[in-house]
Amino acid sequence: MKRAYNFNAGPSALPLPVLQKAQQDMIDYKGTGMSIMEMSHRSSTFEEVLNGAKEDLRSLMNIPDTHEVVFLQGGASLQFSMIPMNFLGTNQIGAYVLTGSWSEKALKEAQKLGQTTVIGSSKENNYRSIPTQNELHLPQQDVAYVHITSNNTIYGTQWHHFPSFGETDLIADMSSDILCRNIDVSKFSLIYAGAQKNLGPSGVTVAIVKKDLLSRIPAGLSTILNYETHVKNNSLYHTPPTFSIYMLSLVLEWVKEQGGLDAIEKQNEKKASMLYECMDMYGDFYTPHADKDSRSLMNVTFTLPDKDRTTSFLQLAEEKGFVGLSGHRSVGGCRASIYNAVPIETCEALVSFMEAFYKEQ
Ligand code: PMP
Repeated sequence: MKRAYNFNAGPSALPLPVLQKAQQDMIDYKGTGMSIMEMSHRSSTFEEVLNGAKEDLRSLMNIPDTHEVVFLQGGASLQFSMIPMNFLGTNQIGAYVLTGSWSEKALKEAQKLGQTTVIGSSKENNYRSIPTQNELHLPQQDVAYVHITSNNTIYGTQWHHFPSFGETDLIADMSSDILCRNIDVSKFSLIYAGAQKNLGPSGVTVAIVKKDLLSRIPAGLSTILNYETHVKNNSLYHTPPTFSIYMLSLVLEWVKEQGGLDAIEKQNEKKASMLYECMDMYGDFYTPHADKDSRSLMNVTFTLPDKDRTTSFLQLAEEKGFVGLSGHRSVGGCRASIYNAVPIETCEALVSFMEAFYKEQ
């Protein structure tokens, strides 16, 4: 068996032990004579899986009792719409910080549904940085929430100090860095993330929502788009993506086995600094896209001196078994996504390849 050096941005690498466990369970899950995909979502066997995943997420992230955890569908993209539908009141304004294409998309959906404002943006410097707290000012109006994107998958930047706006609710799209480090969940009123990077396969979206927020949901909202529906029904209002939730439960068990988020964070820092150090060492050749203090632990984006060398770098990398290193089509260059499941050896292999490629020039 040969596993690729997988740097895909999402869906992305899953831990090998998780895949092996799923393979073992595939035909006959715990003596039921069927796979998890073939049983009712209302069965006690599946409910155990769902509740286990919820509990493991709560304990790993230290989620306080003030917050609920729900498993939804529609990806992070549906959250872009559900947030204003549920929490942006008629006379209120939604405040957005733009740090990349995904925050732009979140804003675009909110603009269709209510009043919005941009309270900070790094668009002018091609999203190389994250604004600092003192660059962000709330307007005088009644602000419904502030929305940020904690990690910018395409540009390779990440918030290292979350902003705070007193009583104003902070909402974060953590699709590409949830579970990569310890965070204080109590500072957020809503955290959401599509699973397909650090949590599991695509198909399930996790939302961690503060109970207080639920009282703001307008009457008459479509049942399925209402967060309260999913809270009240333990994410079983309708048929959930059972296999994705099962895979999520295995990934969470794996994270616990690694030593939880303290250990995962250390490992992620080690992996990322290995790559950034290589780029800093050969700074005349590899240029990171992100400013130093905004560099992401999850998506390492960089360019080479010109198009030809980028093309030959990517071609040779592919021949050597590296997958997913092209930058997003909107920015070009290269990107190594090094989510939790990407082993340190895979990062070491990339560093060796980058050094060798540099020396050949
Ligand atoms: N937000 C971020 C930060 C993302 O990286 C992505 C997907 N790459 C999305 C939102 C959109 O997620 P989905 O495809 O699950 O709707």
